[in-house]
Amino acid sequence: MTGSSRSSSRRKPGEGIASSAADRVTAVVRPEIRALAAYPVAKAEGMVKLDAMENPYPLPGPVRARLDAALSRVAVNRYPDGGADAVKTALSHALRIPDGQGVLLGNGSDELIHIITLALARPGAVVLAPEPSFVMYRMDAVYAGMRFVGVPLAGDFSLDLPAMRAAIEREQPALVFIAYPNNPTGNLFGARDVEAVLQAAPGLVVVDEAYYAFADASFLPRVAEHPNLLVLRTVSKVGMAGLRLGYAVAAPEWIAELNKVRAPYNVNALTQAAAVALLSDTGWIAAQASAIRAERMRLASALERLPGTKVFPTQTNFVLVRVADANEVFEGLKARRILVKNVHRWHPLLANCLRITVGTPEENDLLLAACIELCR
Ligand code: PMP
Repeated sequence: MTGSSRSSSRRKPGEGIASSAADRVTAVVRPEIRALAAYPVAKAEGMVKLDAMENPYPLPGPVRARLDAALSRVAVNRYPDGGADAVKTALSHALRIPDGQGVLLGNGSDELIHIITLALARPGAVVLAPEPSFVMYRMDAVYAGMRFVGVPLAGDFSLDLPAMRAAIEREQPALVFIAYPNNPTGNLFGARDVEAVLQAAPGLVVVDEAYYAFADASFLPRVAEHPNLLVLRTVSKVGMAGLRLGYAVAAPEWIAELNKVRAPYNVNALTQAAAVALLSDTGWIAAQASAIRAERMRLASALERLPGTKVFPTQTNFVLVRVADANEVFEGLKARRILVKNVHRWHPLLANCLRITVGTPEENDLLLAACIELCR
């Protein structure tokens, strides 16, 4: 106490310390973090919300009742089960995780992307991904102090395999991310192309299957075939975005290392109880996913018929559409209280594109009526 008061009394005013919070921030926060913008989440109160790839349907009554009963039993005075074993068992049964593989749970698959990147962040290590793809791959590389290499997709949004191979050869990335299907383009890359990436990559390849429920193919049953494959999934797009629960499946050797980077109680007790209750039957998940697939088809073909639009093939719960002027249509929709994602500025390949999440039939009707007025 006396020591510190003596040393501060010797310090001249302002000496040795920055004068304002802004100066101190500049002095110590890494420049690449200062250069970032925080992940934007649009305000959506009172809007038809078609911007975030959520499942638009509420839980069916009996499932809701099961959830309520499970949550009422949670001992919130205790820490959750650190290993979340009951959730892993429920996921393994419900979502057919192959036997003998390791499983890691995260606070959304966002947290798993963070954990994986951090664990592989040797000085000088590279993260590689096609672009445009999920923005967090690049962001997490920056957080971890890794160099990010983006490889442009081909004009039809397929993987540019020669370019991917050349970049992998040149950069020797510790980590490759492939979103399968891809966000924000919506398409599923060729399985052969992904296999070629797995063959060429010297490090870990994360096949991010956030949209698996709406796609016709998956690498999950093939984890044992590839020693450098990790399949990432989430329950967010199948009706449980509010839970924040993602899972990674890979050889136990990978999972053991990643598990050391995980915060001890990263999946909270309410989420654990909810996941076990909700996954005890998966009929409702399949029924909602198939309703979304049917609406996706209706929405895509109706959008395609509007003058001046181009709808891209999708295996997700959203539709990417090119319009004459994305800014104008986006603002016109917003004025009609409909929120979609304007991805026009994200990448040159996405010029004048909007990403529209498939809603309920009523929401899609509202969207289509507005688009008919706006795309003349
Ligand atoms: N991966 C991809 C490809 C995504 O599009 C998203 C959500 N936008 C995520 C991961 C993150 O999902 P969550 O954190 O909700 O599990």
